[in-house]
Amino acid sequence: MTRKSLDCRKIPSEINCDLKMTGSEEHLLPAAVQHAVSAHGHKDSPELREKIRKSLEDETE
Ligand SMILES: [Zn+2]
Repeated sequence: MTRKSLDCRKIPSEINCDLKMTGSEEHLLPAAVQHAVSAHGHKDSPELREKIRKSLEDETE
């Protein structure tokens, strides 16, 4: 199964977050949403989920 990765450096944020998360979309997406809300101060919404989902990339290593 292809794992996805999310690199915070590729998402504009005011806190210069450099966290990188990897996992299957099923697990990564909820974790990423939670991180965006708790660490980046975003509001959980369908738009936020969609934005994060679009920024997921196939794991490269
Ligand atoms: Zn982050």
